[in-house]
Amino acid sequence: MRATFLGGGREVGRVGIFSEFDENKILIDYGIVPENPPQYPIESPPVSYAIVSHAHLDHSGMIPWLCSRYNTKIFTTSLTKEISEVLYRDTIKIADSIGYPFPYGENEIELAMQNFVEINEKLELEDMKIKFHNAGHIPGSVMIEIGETLFACDINTIETRLMKGARAVKCKNLFIEGTYAGVEHPKRDELEKEFLDEVEDIVNKGGKAIIPAFAVGRTQEIAILLSQGGHEIWLDGMGHKISEIMLRYKHYIKSPKQLQKAMKEMNIVYSNRGKKLALKSGIVLTTSGMMNGGPVLWYIDRIKDDPKSAVIITGYQVEGTNGRLLLERKEIELYGVKTKVDCQVKFYDFSAHAGHSQLIKFIKDCSPENVVVFHSENPEAIAEEIDANVYIPENGERIEISAD
Ligand SMILES: [Zn+2]
Ligand SMILES: [Zn+2]
Repeated sequence: MRATFLGGGREVGRVGIFSEFDENKILIDYGIVPENPPQYPIESPPVSYAIVSHAHLDHSGMIPWLCSRYNTKIFTTSLTKEISEVLYRDTIKIADSIGYPFPYGENEIELAMQNFVEINEKLELEDMKIKFHNAGHIPGSVMIEIGETLFACDINTIETRLMKGARAVKCKNLFIEGTYAGVEHPKRDELEKEFLDEVEDIVNKGGKAIIPAFAVGRTQEIAILLSQGGHEIWLDGMGHKISEIMLRYKHYIKSPKQLQKAMKEMNIVYSNRGKKLALKSGIVLTTSGMMNGGPVLWYIDRIKDDPKSAVIITGYQVEGTNGRLLLERKEIELYGVKTKVDCQVKFYDFSAHAGHSQLIKFIKDCSPENVVVFHSENPEAIAEEIDANVYIPENGERIEISAD
């Protein structure tokens, strides 16, 4: 088979893998780097079919453009389709409000929605026999097996509050993400305990805990976790809508009952009055996860001078984001003005990606002859430990994996 990397080569973000199995062509993912303004992948050649591994914009963000250009049919889970639609609409709204040009608008999103085809466990497209497996990353995420090739585009192998881990699939060619190549995560159960103790400690001492979390996946996981603490919790922002969508696709969640219970107990912010009540109450779970916009900024603005209060970050902060600025320099840009912050800033590594040893174990368990490492800033860390032919493609590079 052959593969051309339109994006995601030696970088985390804007994945696009133009794949050729003999005469059959298929695009695996087509995303952006979700910055303001975003970075785009290389333009895809004409293609009749694409598969989207999951809803995150770095894997799905260019799909409406693709559909409008080539009328491409998009295969993915119904849950990924629904979440993507919410993210697309939000993305064009942000582009519009900041005022940068964006490659698609409402009409292209409509067209993409019509071109989505729901997948189940198996699919046959021309001569390609395709199977889907749980990727353990976010609800609705899949690994894609086409013949002897497996695409593991964002996977997690451990069990979390929200997801069951991905299981290895025997294959000859393995395309694997390496977001955390060379980096280990803390043990999940210890991390959860420290996080809950921290929240407890802050509110007991009279502070407020503002918890930014990504709307897709992280909000739901943290909501389940916080619901064990017995405190009054408030939820503000897009995480609520996404949770409601997820609860309509229960089979993609490890324990829908737990998520349902957590969401039921949660107080939802609908108005400015709600925001004030939430802040007064003390624990607020909100978006955006990297603090580049969304209601989280309203809360941070109000606690930033209070050393008893804390912003408790729950996920990786990409370079150049407000969250990274806050973590590294204790500064944040609020409504266009860079401001010093005196409240506490904490970080908890609730990753939805496999850590280094988990990636290595997963690869070994798949026992591939050929391994392609992408979606990584440090792919060599994996290459060094793997007994297989390793490919580390650059963007724009076409690799050929021999048929025997
Ligand atoms: Zn992802
Ligand atoms: Zn990704």
